Amino acid sequence: MRLGMRRSMLLALASGIVSLALLLSTARAHELVAPALLGAVRPQVAPEVADTREPTREPTREPTHDPLARALAGGRIARGFLRHRMLHFTFDDGPRLDTTPRLLDELDRHGVKATFFVVARGFDGSSASDRAKAALLREVARRGHVIGAHTYDHSNLVQLDDEGVRAQLDAQEVAFEAVLGGRPSLFRPPYGARDARVDALLAERGYTQMLWNVTARDVESRTGEEVAAAFAQSLDVRERHRRGPGGIVVLHDTKPWVVDAFPAMMAELARRNCALLEAGEELWDVLDDPSVFHEAGDGTRMQSSARVDPAFVEARQARLRELTAARCAP
Ligand SMILES: [Zn+2]
Repeated sequence: MRLGMRRSMLLALASGIVSLALLLSTARAHELVAPALLGAVRPQVAPEVADTREPTREPTREPTHDPLARALAGGRIARGFLRHRMLHFTFDDGPRLDTTPRLLDELDRHGVKATFFVVARGFDGSSASDRAKAALLREVARRGHVIGAHTYDHSNLVQLDDEGVRAQLDAQEVAFEAVLGGRPSLFRPPYGARDARVDALLAERGYTQMLWNVTARDVESRTGEEVAAAFAQSLDVRERHRRGPGGIVVLHDTKPWVVDAFPAMMAELARRNCALLEAGEELWDVLDDPSVFHEAGDGTRMQSSARVDPAFVEARQARLRELTAARCAP
């Protein structure tokens, strides 16, 4: 965990980074054409170069994947409580060159899409490392995952004044625009530190905060076994929770033991599903799309549990039962 910077240093750094990133955004424009982003990224047309010709008529086509999750903007707060055995995986603090690519491969192997809450400092500079991380971030998006924001430098927003919070958001937005051609709609406050003032500042920019309610003690642990065991304990806690078993899982793709643990975590869910199927209960379902946890509500008010369309749940459960029955057959 990084310590928050002093505000004066932060403001000076943020304004410097804004200018640097503006310069770099031009240089990087040619790199923006990642296949998965085509059709998903809103065209950015500066007014002075706006094309006044008649727009070409094209059949309307919904983008299949929007890595910036624009539909989830709106200043809401998702906590993860859900009355179904549904999980969504989220990974914080990356991208990291030696761990994130390995995790992407594991996620592909298990057919899981996740949300990555990334720290903008690290991929917005001109160093070889920053450029490699920028390319890695585009690869995360290309593989179908959602990108969320996690501040510019992992500052605790509660400890910053309004100007400091806005400087964090300005700096991260410039970095995202340069690398992804837009900025994320989802935001995760570092350390989960938030209050009414921070909530309002984030809502002002349309960020939806995605919190979490399932952990695997991956910051304290040092082995994949420890993380997988902590994840299993968290599932037991969810099973007993009055707000239901569902949850948003927080992990860090910066930790090698998280990558090591991931196959065991998926095996744990698969093992539980064999038993649940036998008992005729709802099965654990890993959702690719974080929108299920995007509670309806006004502004920053939180609801106790997200509502889910029962038909959506049943359709997924029917498919899961089929797959589970084939896999768990004695
Ligand atoms: Zn973090």
